[in-house]
Amino acid sequence: MRALLGGKGANLAEMTNIGLPVPPGMTITTAACIEYYRLGRKLPDGLMDEVKRNLTVVEEQAGKKFGDLTNPLLVSVRSGAMFSMPGMMDTILNLGLNEQTVQSVANNTGNLRFAYDSYRRFIQMFGDVVLEIPKYEFEDLLNQQKENQGVKYDQELTPESLRKVIDSYKKLVRSKTGRAFPEDPMEQLKMAIEAVFRSWNNDRAIIYRNLNKIAHDLGTAVNIQSMVFGNMGNDSGTGVAFTRNPSTGENTLYGEFLTNAQGEDVVAGIRTPRPIIQLKEEMPEMYTEFVRIARLLESHYKNMQDIEFTIERGRLYILQTRNGKRTAQASVRIAYEMAQEGLITKQQALLLVDPSQLDQLLHRQIDSQAQLNVIAKGLPASPGAASGQVVFDADEAEHLGKMGKKVLLVRTETTPDDIHGIVAAQGVLTSRGGMTSHAAVVARGMGKPCVCGCEAIKIDYIKEEFSVGTTVIKKGELVSIDGATGRVILGQVPMKDPEISAEYTALLSWADEVKYLGIRANADTPEDAKKAREFGATGIGLVRTEHMFMGQDRLPHVQQMILAETLEDRQKALSYLLPMQEGDFYGILKAMEGYPVTIRLLDPPLHEFLPSLEELLIETTELRVTGKDPVLLEEKLRLLKKVRSLHEFNPMLGHRGCRLGITFPEIYEMQITAIFNAAARLTQEGYKVLPEVEVPLTIDVNEMKLFKGKIDAIAKATMAAVNVKFHYAVGTMIELPRACVIADELAEFCDFFSFGTNDLTQTTFGFSRDDAEGKFLPHYLESKILKENPFIVIDRKGVGAFMDMAVKRGRKTRPDLEIGICGEHGGEPNSVAFCHEVGLNYVSCSPYRVPIARLAAAQAAISDGEIIGTR
Ligand code: ADP
Ligand code: MG
Ligand code: MG
Repeated sequence: MRALLGGKGANLAEMTNIGLPVPPGMTITTAACIEYYRLGRKLPDGLMDEVKRNLTVVEEQAGKKFGDLTNPLLVSVRSGAMFSMPGMMDTILNLGLNEQTVQSVANNTGNLRFAYDSYRRFIQMFGDVVLEIPKYEFEDLLNQQKENQGVKYDQELTPESLRKVIDSYKKLVRSKTGRAFPEDPMEQLKMAIEAVFRSWNNDRAIIYRNLNKIAHDLGTAVNIQSMVFGNMGNDSGTGVAFTRNPSTGENTLYGEFLTNAQGEDVVAGIRTPRPIIQLKEEMPEMYTEFVRIARLLESHYKNMQDIEFTIERGRLYILQTRNGKRTAQASVRIAYEMAQEGLITKQQALLLVDPSQLDQLLHRQIDSQAQLNVIAKGLPASPGAASGQVVFDADEAEHLGKMGKKVLLVRTETTPDDIHGIVAAQGVLTSRGGMTSHAAVVARGMGKPCVCGCEAIKIDYIKEEFSVGTTVIKKGELVSIDGATGRVILGQVPMKDPEISAEYTALLSWADEVKYLGIRANADTPEDAKKAREFGATGIGLVRTEHMFMGQDRLPHVQQMILAETLEDRQKALSYLLPMQEGDFYGILKAMEGYPVTIRLLDPPLHEFLPSLEELLIETTELRVTGKDPVLLEEKLRLLKKVRSLHEFNPMLGHRGCRLGITFPEIYEMQITAIFNAAARLTQEGYKVLPEVEVPLTIDVNEMKLFKGKIDAIAKATMAAVNVKFHYAVGTMIELPRACVIADELAEFCDFFSFGTNDLTQTTFGFSRDDAEGKFLPHYLESKILKENPFIVIDRKGVGAFMDMAVKRGRKTRPDLEIGICGEHGGEPNSVAFCHEVGLNYVSCSPYRVPIARLAAAQAAISDGEIIGTR
């Protein structure tokens, strides 16, 4: 009943039910909190009556009475929402103390010091949390008293000095609030309940919820619980422990405790707590009992637990338990070992690991012991850590990279022209752009660390330096980035290699056993293809041929092909490119032998292969003014003219995709020939290859009919020419709404569909991604108009509906139509689950995301099985 009782309340109730020693108490539900807000911040009628009624039950169980003059019950008031929100509200302890009850506590315990100390703490916590008087004002008064008495620690204060502290606290409260500190315990309780409700909407809570995508209308519960005291002598104490090591996952208790202390002392750092294992020597019975309970809780919740406990005069009490937070490494080991121990099933183990965490395990990481000089923070765009000399130019990065230097490419943003620089760099740092900016997407694809959108850094390309505040970093200086946290660090950082554990390998093989979706990778080079295979990919879902066109040895030929005025000129340029492309496809098909490889024909608008208009204008103007090199000027002017003619008002919706194949058929013909030549050669050499030729951005069946005819003809001719037979498939990328609607027609000429959800999202929303992320999308997300960034998590309602339509219509024509996805979404767990639900055959993502996709696909299959029976 977490939603109603909050996580803390639900677990306290459950622990009580299974017979664990939990101090008696009650929980006011989140529904009451929601009602409190509905009434305009007013406690619902009858709430306090109900609290009073239930308090008598608590009193009976505790054997004490709230506000009683001889045997007073003291309580803690604790917040607790459905999702744990650390630091939302501080807990109030010792509530119920006043001038009279404090004397009874002193009498009953025979310890005036303890009674006064508890009272002092209570006034301070209540003053801070309920009355909103800054904590430091109380601390100042306490420190003054310590100074007056010439002592260093709180514990050294005598009862008399504590009495003075209490009086000074009360004076402070009166001067700040204009009234006396409340003496009536019931009034204290009512005020505390209201404060917990209010805390649901304090600034830190709202910020935390925004960061963690927790809804704002859930409300918090209030737990009122009888106090137990860990500060009643050396047979008392308090502590916190994890049932397994949260950093490594090792199956040993991990935690700390303090003898003779109350809860907040452990965190306050006044005394250094001791490792939990020492409890074994000090209070062996308590230790044995705690170990027993820890085991029980773990097997009850089937998860590693984080437990808070207190010992009062030789009696152990459990105050809280929850699923413990852990590192990725620990998460994998714990899941695996719990299954091996028979505590959970393999399927439950698979559900215990958060797929997006797996990412951390495959990249080099900063040594956690290292001292770091962090100078700025950007978005954690692609995990892993990198150090290198700062360079501001892709060509220079490539040049230095070839010389074996380690460089860090720093740009305001990157474009497809910078690819070779990104390839050569250890990592990328940009000052503009979001998590799906070009730099971020490309870096993730390559498994390269990237920090983007780091607005604190100001780049000066002319001076070749960047600055953060007053710190200036010049070209060549060493800088490091941490792509998992977004940190930018001065100098080189010590790093650790990732270790792939046996548990990890085993867990993922379990995932493969239950998942239904196939997992492919997006890869443009044989190296990426090999990496993808290592990570468990069983095919390539997207080879982007334009990345090959960007290579420094190819670009001049590509430009010549674009600039060609006649068909002959164009064919001449293409004849240079043909063997190069053939070599590319040969390498990838070979690396992926036995598995399908989807190769997309040229997709981006041609102007992306030419210099920018601005650049050319500057160059030609300079050449004109100096009159230095008329021949070069002539050439540049010709280029300028072409660039102008290719200029488009909206390139995203422009002359690209298979529109290029229609207007420049020779380009596609060259690429198709290259693919089949490579396939033929490999077949002759005895390799089994499965090329899939993919036509991008189709909108009509007539396009597909045309290309299908062409592809088949070239395949036939190639096979006949060398007298071999190989398998191939023809299909299209589905990335426009119209293609989804007419999917039944397209399927007539397709063996496969692959959803290009980046473009499909752009065209469904009518947003250009890069513009949206820079301009208005952040506002849409902050103001909750959109819940998620649709470029990261598939928009099920809109884009998803189009996908569902395309799947159904496509399979109506061709029941065996193979359907996959190759957008960035293919490696995002929520989107992978969606792909499973609409019945795709596979997802394809960047190589480093393959393990994430494998686990996410397994989880989708398991959840699905629970609902509709196993597949
Ligand atoms: P948080 O949600 O921040 O962990 P808690 O409500 O768990 O806050 O309270 C913090 C600490 O206060 C507990 O770990 C425990 O040490 C102490 N505490 C809370 N309730 C009690 C209680 N009934 N008796 C003794 N100590 C308590
Ligand atoms: Mg707690
Ligand atoms: Mg596209």
